[in-house]
Amino acid sequence: MKIARFWANGQVGIGIVEGEEIWECDERLQKTQVLWYMDEVKLLAAAAPSKVVCVGRNYAEHAAELGNEVPKSPLLFLKAPSSIIAGGDNIIIPSQSSQVEHEGELAIVIGRRAKDIGDDENALKYVLGYTCLNDVTARDIQRADVQFTRGKSFDTFCPIGPFVETELDVSDVRVTCSVNGEIRQDGRTSQMVFPIEFLVRYISLQMTLMPGDVIATGTPSGVSKLEPGDVCEVTVEGIGTLKNAVSTA
Ligand code: ZN
Repeated sequence: MKIARFWANGQVGIGIVEGEEIWECDERLQKTQVLWYMDEVKLLAAAAPSKVVCVGRNYAEHAAELGNEVPKSPLLFLKAPSSIIAGGDNIIIPSQSSQVEHEGELAIVIGRRAKDIGDDENALKYVLGYTCLNDVTARDIQRADVQFTRGKSFDTFCPIGPFVETELDVSDVRVTCSVNGEIRQDGRTSQMVFPIEFLVRYISLQMTLMPGDVIATGTPSGVSKLEPGDVCEVTVEGIGTLKNAVSTA
């Protein structure tokens, strides 16, 4: 099923998407009697995580295009939750950067608290589902700083959505990112250096994953600069398209 977070009647709702309809749910994701139509609500970011854990250099060709080696174990960093926006919201280029780039990614949304997942346990049982994420990056700032926090965490730098898809085999799906309709990134999740199940287990050994937490699984090659007026779309096969326009502050 597809799960949406939305704003309607002055509050946040969670619902199951069926075509143009959204059935509002309780916190256990059971349908209520409340039905909304897509054009009656504002879709929010598909997750409201306590943290966004990102995996750097998880596609060999992307590591190479930035002049980096593929790491021996997953390279983790965090994006500030305050950088999260929904599809349809604008990515705002901050005055501090002259090189803001898109990174289209498959994102994992955690369903159950996960800590120290054992080698004999299926890590995917802690996953609620999957969505699209744009790991927007101020590349000049990322390069200038010792670590990634500032270049990855400006407000609006983390579009997530449009929905969380709960029944998708993501071992080999296409991930694309286009700018103004032209495809710039085009990869498959089967090209990941560290696959999904490995990542969830590995991260659970470093920090407790909470329900709603998001893991951005890395970006294929083809990252490029965004300009004001651009429209950037991240599409994951089987999930949908996350679309954001770009503007200045
Ligand atoms: Zn990334």
